[in-house]
Amino acid sequence: MTTVILFVLGAIVGSFLNVVGLRWDLPRRGGVLSNLGGRSACPSCGKVLRWQELVPIVSFFLLRARCRGCQAKISWQYPLIELWTGLLFATVPYIFIPVFCIYVVITIYDFRHKIIPDTLVYTSILLALVLKLFSGGSLLDWLAGPVLFIFFGLIWLVSRGRAMGFGDAKLGLSVGLLLGAPLGFSAIVLAFWIGSFGSLTYLFLNKSGFLKDAKKLTMKSEVPFAPAIILGAWMSLVFHLDILHVALF
Ligand SMILES: [Zn+2]
Repeated sequence: MTTVILFVLGAIVGSFLNVVGLRWDLPRRGGVLSNLGGRSACPSCGKVLRWQELVPIVSFFLLRARCRGCQAKISWQYPLIELWTGLLFATVPYIFIPVFCIYVVITIYDFRHKIIPDTLVYTSILLALVLKLFSGGSLLDWLAGPVLFIFFGLIWLVSRGRAMGFGDAKLGLSVGLLLGAPLGFSAIVLAFWIGSFGSLTYLFLNKSGFLKDAKKLTMKSEVPFAPAIILGAWMSLVFHLDILHVALF
């Protein structure tokens, strides 16, 4: 029962995170983030949405992914993020939920802009640090964050920012601090698997014409890596992974 309540709560929070992720950089671009307080409306026609159209996950399918006012397509991002946040709430330890909410916003943002906002990643590092101070952990646990930071930092340095952004190094620090040694390292191994699998799937779908509105994409295209790191962190945490057998040391 608790799991169901947590899932529903998470899905509701997820629909809010969707909006935060989409509007995060509006102040910098001359918009207003205070839009967040306003009623939800269709981005195409401005029609204010009724409560029946705002039920997380469900509304998307009832509306058949189209706005009732103007028939504009509604992005799959909405139900996917709501579903994912619901699952996060139901599976992640309570004290980790705030950090994962930030991770969800980072995921949305990185997908859209290929950049991890500093404010978000620094806040997640600070929260992870506070949690670590309270929970303690071994020396290896404490080293996981800095090790991952240096690892991604070196890739960033050697590839001159082409293979990996510096934001990924900061996110590595965050995940390492949050999860400690076996889980944190497993998260990054998983991230590379997820990243490769995701890129190949996308390339394949793109080549075979499944994605109509996709941009021309090649192996060299910039691929957002933060979503892979975050998915890896979640799976590693939920399944208690120790891919590198760190626990043996
Ligand atoms: Zn509309």
